[in-house]
Amino acid sequence: MSRIVFLGTGGARFVVAKQLRASGGIWLELGTTRIHIDPGPGALVRALSHQPPLDPPRLDALVLSHKHLDHSCDVNVMVEAMTHGGWKRRGLLLAPADAFDEEGVVLPYVRGFLDRIEYLSEFGGPYLINDVEIRGSVGHRHGVETLGLHFLHAGTRISYLPCTRRFDGLAEHYAQAQPDVLIMNVLRFRDRMDVDHLTFDDAREILGIVRPRVAVMTHFGTQMLDRKPWLLARQLEQELGLRVYAAHDDWELNVEEELAAASP
Ligand SMILES: [Zn+2]
Ligand SMILES: [Zn+2]
Repeated sequence: MSRIVFLGTGGARFVVAKQLRASGGIWLELGTTRIHIDPGPGALVRALSHQPPLDPPRLDALVLSHKHLDHSCDVNVMVEAMTHGGWKRRGLLLAPADAFDEEGVVLPYVRGFLDRIEYLSEFGGPYLINDVEIRGSVGHRHGVETLGLHFLHAGTRISYLPCTRRFDGLAEHYAQAQPDVLIMNVLRFRDRMDVDHLTFDDAREILGIVRPRVAVMTHFGTQMLDRKPWLLARQLEQELGLRVYAAHDDWELNVEEELAAASP
């Protein structure tokens, strides 16, 4: 069985600071491989308080799309949890190189606890974790090194499109990956300020081009929350004829069930 557990669905500093939505990132189980993506503030607590609890010592990898705090705050404590407090050398940490530089987020002392560190780079990979393959996306435009992820496991393709401003070629890149499931960070509703994030209108355009079998929006700012993301998801479903969800905290998506229910 494969599942995607949303340990946090909030984005933007205000939502995260007030914890209007949690910020624990995404826990991905593909067969027997467990990968925690973007462990933001509260990730460890959220994993342990999930019902039934998720077990960090059984993680195979931690992945950061980029080093901003809402995506990386708990990375050090998650490394400790994954490596049994540093006593058992194991696991992979995959993150952009700037997460390790002098303004990085990964503390030097925890690096030695890991079995492997790999730098996530543009079009990089495949990075292998058991029977899961990960490839880096085209570089995102988001201030710091930011990359999306393309997962391949047992013929199923799952892509994660994290924070970025909209740019020409972004949708086409994700379309080429032909994801069965596309998870995308949709922080804003419409843009009145010029920021490095996707809006709901961008999401509509991208989904229309990529046309995954199942789409999940997450990482919401206040504008999106005010407009009730589950209603916006329904609107996109009707417009595009795709299965579209708005994630909420602690929600689990069963990959096989969803794909069986989606049109081919
Ligand atoms: Zn973010
Ligand atoms: Zn960011």
